[in-house]
Amino acid sequence: MLKEKQDMTALIVEEEKVRKFAGGLRGDLITPADAGYEDARTIYNAMIDKRPGLIASCENVADVIASVNFARQNNLELAIRGGGHNGAGLGLVDDGLVIDLSRMNSVRVDPQARSVRVQGGATWGEVDHTTHAFGLAVPSGIISTTGVAGLTLGGGHGYLSRKYGLTVDNLLEADIVLADGRLVTASAEENPDLFWAVRGGGGNFGVVTSFLFQAHPVHTIYGGPIIWPIDQAEEILRWYRQFIKDAPRDLYGWFGFHRVPSGSPLPEALHGKHGCVITWCYTGPMDKAEEVFEPIRALGTPVLDMAGPMPYPALQSMFDQLYYPPGLQWYWKADFVKELSDEAIMIHRQFGKALPTEISTMHLYPINGAVHEIDRNETAFSYRDVTWSRVIVGVDPDPANAESIREWAKEYWAALHPLSAGGGYVNFMMEEGQDRIRATYRDNYERLVDVKRKYDPKNLFHVNQNIKPA
Ligand SMILES: Cc1cc2nc3c(=O)[nH]c(=O)nc-3n(C[C@H](O)[C@H](O)[C@H](O)COP(=O)(O)OP(=O)(O)OC[C@H]3O[C@@H](n4cnc5c(N)ncnc54)[C@H](O)[C@@H]3O)c2cc1C
Repeated sequence: MLKEKQDMTALIVEEEKVRKFAGGLRGDLITPADAGYEDARTIYNAMIDKRPGLIASCENVADVIASVNFARQNNLELAIRGGGHNGAGLGLVDDGLVIDLSRMNSVRVDPQARSVRVQGGATWGEVDHTTHAFGLAVPSGIISTTGVAGLTLGGGHGYLSRKYGLTVDNLLEADIVLADGRLVTASAEENPDLFWAVRGGGGNFGVVTSFLFQAHPVHTIYGGPIIWPIDQAEEILRWYRQFIKDAPRDLYGWFGFHRVPSGSPLPEALHGKHGCVITWCYTGPMDKAEEVFEPIRALGTPVLDMAGPMPYPALQSMFDQLYYPPGLQWYWKADFVKELSDEAIMIHRQFGKALPTEISTMHLYPINGAVHEIDRNETAFSYRDVTWSRVIVGVDPDPANAESIREWAKEYWAALHPLSAGGGYVNFMMEEGQDRIRATYRDNYERLVDVKRKYDPKNLFHVNQNIKPA
């Protein structure tokens, strides 16, 4: 009886604490009893089903500081949610507190300095929309609904990487709420050790409330997908492996195996058909574009050529709904790749022909051009000396197929991993354990541990691809 009474008291104290915490926020504190809870805990990958105890939907930096302090003082598990796109669902945690930044999504362009200030919960679509009005763009990924924060903190590669480098190569500074609740700025001048670590080291060091990026003059591009039949995969890959090394930096093209989704606006005759696709983005002088595309168009017999001039944000959002609306099952496997050998091409051909579902895929994203100009120890992102970041993803709307897409992705990956560079891109990983994380950071790992010890010695921020302080 006495025990029961004590437990009740503890509960009341907790409730009182929670009430006080909620009362101090400008945003909302959402609990499982609230009507908006299911929406608030929904993330992009429907394979992940986590039930946080509290979700702090933060309105401003003060809310973030209060949330970090509340989690630390009450020994709560803590997750940070930016765009909610992470494959492993690392923006959520069971039982603990989630700091949800999605309301903190403002974007402000300084056209004179060509810089962009972006809050920690914005998506790339919001950034592109704003910068486009000024004829500018920040290098990011290939889907506009992805969060700025998670993508940037892991490195960030996409259409502008060959010309302007990774997203982190364009980061000028970040405002970060640390584990002890202090807000600091990390830049080349202030807290340079922290600035080094956040350029690839993920959400390990604190909550980034805003980023300042260098933007570049990009407005109309010439690009889009060109699709060849799957039986030309070997020829296309053999050509592509050399072409993308020698191509001008104005040109970026990522390779993918795809099936044309049924019901898509693409020609009906192609629906369900397997193909190999290179999606291009050319940012050089527009009057030279047709000439640049001549060798590409001379290749094989494309079944569809959608490349042409378009506004940069149109390319950035081209696949948002066509292939990847939120709420699908996703299983990710990643590697960095230096060379695409004949043996690797044969393995790709075998698996590319047998995609297990209509939207499962394999992508090769170029990691060269401007990315190679920065030394591998200059930022936490280590794998700059490769040619591609490869991802194999089993994707399907039906949870009943989760097991089969997982098995396919693992089998494909296992066949190719021995021919790969060692580590994989942290933003393309599920939770795969410490060995994979160490392999990915290589000789940058120990330096990351030192920075972690300095800024988060008790590992408050551990719901991520974790750098352990001890
Ligand atoms: C369809 C699709 C396409 C993609 N394409 C690309 C691509 O072209 N290029 C590329 O580089 N990546 C790409 N990615 C991978 C993407 O970079 C990762 O999924 C990334 O984790 C997404 O960031 P987020 O903010 O949306 O994720 P979230 O799930 O919100 O968070 C991811 C991680 O970042 C941490 N985090 C989030 N916000 C903050 C913050 N403000 N401060 C500190 N830590 C934070 C979280 O703790 C978590 O560990 C793609 C992903 C998807 C689903």
